[in-house]
Amino acid sequence: PTQTLPKMMSASVKAFGRRPALEFFGAVTTYRDLGEQIERAAEGLRRLGVGKGDRVALVLPNCPQHVVAFYAALRLGAIVVEHNPLYTPRELRHQFEDHGARVVVVWDKAVDVVDGLPADLKVEHIVSVDITAAMPFSKRLALRLPVSKARASRAKLTGTPKARHLVAWKQLVSHKRLSRRVAGPTLSDTALLQYTSGTTGTPKGAILTHSNLRANAMQGRAWVPGLVDGEETFYAVLPLFHAYGMTLCLTFAMSIGAKLVLFPTFDLGLVTEASRSSPPTFLPAVPPIYDALARAASRGTIDLSTVRFAISGAMSLPVATVQRWEEATGGLLVEGYGMTESSPVALGNPIGPTRRPGTVGVPFPSTEIRVVDPGDPAVDMPAGERGELLIRGPQVFQGYWERPGDTADALLADGWLRTGDIAEVSPDGFVTIVDRLKELIITGGFNVSPSEVENALEAHPDVVGAAVVGLPRSSGGEEVAAAVVLREGAALNADALRDFCRTRLTPYKVPRRIVVIDDLPRSLIGKVLRRQVRERMLA
Ligand code: ATP
Ligand code: MG
Repeated sequence: PTQTLPKMMSASVKAFGRRPALEFFGAVTTYRDLGEQIERAAEGLRRLGVGKGDRVALVLPNCPQHVVAFYAALRLGAIVVEHNPLYTPRELRHQFEDHGARVVVVWDKAVDVVDGLPADLKVEHIVSVDITAAMPFSKRLALRLPVSKARASRAKLTGTPKARHLVAWKQLVSHKRLSRRVAGPTLSDTALLQYTSGTTGTPKGAILTHSNLRANAMQGRAWVPGLVDGEETFYAVLPLFHAYGMTLCLTFAMSIGAKLVLFPTFDLGLVTEASRSSPPTFLPAVPPIYDALARAASRGTIDLSTVRFAISGAMSLPVATVQRWEEATGGLLVEGYGMTESSPVALGNPIGPTRRPGTVGVPFPSTEIRVVDPGDPAVDMPAGERGELLIRGPQVFQGYWERPGDTADALLADGWLRTGDIAEVSPDGFVTIVDRLKELIITGGFNVSPSEVENALEAHPDVVGAAVVGLPRSSGGEEVAAAVVLREGAALNADALRDFCRTRLTPYKVPRRIVVIDDLPRSLIGKVLRRQVRERMLA
């Protein structure tokens, strides 16, 4: 990579000036306007004391100001820290204690939550964003957004908040442009502290440099055939605060001069409306979103035949979803794989007839992989055998923020990243992700893969979803337990379901305990949280 992110953005502003960069409820911002707003916001942030290495926290849904704030902070050499805008005060407090940002850019619905953070945190300046200000007036009234459920509990955490300086976004961008003399970051500077999803534990802040992020955008560019610079329309239905949406929409899309259509939340109605005037060509998303869109497309309520690039990641993509999507839209749906620690994309299927559903494809350009013994990562597994996947490439992170122990566990001395995922590689190099190492169930000396058991349960016509976990047994070890979501109107017959599983699984894999739940708990991006299922079953 040759450019930092702000340099990359300036190049796009120059090359694509009058073309649309952002669209929000029909309101369009050109690249030139975006560049202007970034320079003004950078000057505003500079006046709040932001400089190189300072953390700037964003607590924002997808909106134009999110893109502006992201690049404005980077322009000053500051480190952007993204947060889920629906986080509870407790979750935010944990992250703010960790990164110690002084300046926060937050949507007005969560200003209370941020202002209510304990006084001993470093937060001094709160920039409040009214996201409806970026919308055409006629659309403002109709917008309904989820708001953090936890606002009411704010009082419990506050104590006496210190006087914090509140600034409106409008004020922040009312200044002249930043002076050209203000030096920007260099490639090896940290651009982002990107928190992991917290699927297996507390989210950890992954340190990603300009070089890491720029590399992943360029790898993406090399991977996707037939992209037309300045002509693509990306739909940002994934949250920009998560590694996947961030790289695909904030860096990759902007680097190729695409128009980015921003959705503050995934909503079928909003996507359908936008698709009429701005048909999508590039749609990065996750399986539950592809399912919902494919169903709408087959009902004929949305036309998705313009999507040339549908790229699924973050969780495994069921082959049934691929079939549903491809039948309904006539386009391909391909799967990739990554993690926050690799900026995030590390593997992907070829976008074309050689893609292989059920696999995550092959290593990205300039990316190497190994499959090793999880007990000793120096030892490679024999070809074709399952083991822990290791990744090495220019997109691999620098370590976790102030967590030297976790960093040493994840990042081996020679640059290999331990993914914590079990993988298998086919003779011609296609990788299948089996499960997370941490979620394997050990019962009677055997390893049980929860996803294998989930697949067996989900094959039953009454089961629409399943999460399988290990529960401690009084005699030591674990037993296989399942929570299932049933088709409407169906009733659980645990014995019959176990009999059904026995036709597909060896006996030790068949779940002993089966309970029914209404819905699988999922993270905001849609990952099933087996950890929460386990906690509920233990309670
Ligand atoms: P935490 O690390 O905090 O427990 P997390 O691992 O879910 O959370 P992310 O960095 O968002 O946080 O996700 C990376 C993980 O997502 C990978 O390690 C892998 O387990 C899973 N993953 C990503 N893509 C795929 C895929 N295509 N198929 C299966 N799993 C995937
Ligand atoms: Mg992880």
